[in-house]
Amino acid sequence: MLIVFIGPPGAGKGTQSRRLLEYLGISHLSTGELLREAKATGSPLGTLAAQYMDHGRLVPDSLVLEMVDEKLREPQFAKGCLFDGFPRTLAQARAFDESLEKRSTPLNLVLELRADEEELLSRMLKRAAQEGRADDNPQTIAHRFEVFRQQTEPLIDYYRFKGILAIIDALGTPDEVFERIKAAVEKRRPR
Ligand code: ADP
Repeated sequence: MLIVFIGPPGAGKGTQSRRLLEYLGISHLSTGELLREAKATGSPLGTLAAQYMDHGRLVPDSLVLEMVDEKLREPQFAKGCLFDGFPRTLAQARAFDESLEKRSTPLNLVLELRADEEELLSRMLKRAAQEGRADDNPQTIAHRFEVFRQQTEPLIDYYRFKGILAIIDALGTPDEVFERIKAAVEKRRPR
C-alpha cells in the first residue's frame, strides 16, 4: 500500500506516521528526515538544503525529487511505503505520479491531517522548547505555515480530484487521531 501523508507543521505527522508504520509494517520515506540527516553529515546536498530548511523555506524540487527517486529504487519500497512530507508542491506531486506510473505502483491513499492553525502553533512552540529543532522558532514557524498554505494546500485538491483523499481531524489525543487514520486506511486497503 502506498500512502502519502500531508499535514501542516505541528499537526502530528511524525507521531502518527510512526504508529501507522508499525501497524502496516511498510517502509517509510520522510523527506524532512532525509534532509536533516543529509544536513548532519555535512554533505554538499545537506549543506545546500540547510540554507532553505533553516529558514522554513522549501528545498528546491529537483533536489528533493532526486533524493526520493534514489529511495524508490530500493526493493522494499515496492511492497508498500508511507511518504511523509512528500510531495509538498504540485510539481513534486506530478513528477511523483510519473515515477509511480513507470513502476506501475499507483498511490492508494492520501491522508490529510487537518487542524486549526492556532492550536498547531501552540503545539509547535512546546516542541521547540523540548526538542530544540533548528527550524522550530516563532519566525520560522510562521513562515512554514505560509509555505504550507501557498505551496502544499493545492495538493489537497489535486488528490481530491483523483479520488484518493481522506481528511483526518488532527485534534484530540494521539490515540483518537490514530483511530481515525486506521479507519481511513482500512477502507482503502487493497485486498
Ligand atoms: P514539518 O512538516 O514539521 O515542517 P518536515 O520534517 O517535514 O517538517 O520538513 C522540514 C523542512 O525540510 C521543511 O521546512 C523544508 O525546508 C524541508 N522539506 C521537507 N520535505 C520537503 C519537500 N518534499 N520539498 C521541499 N522541502 C522539503
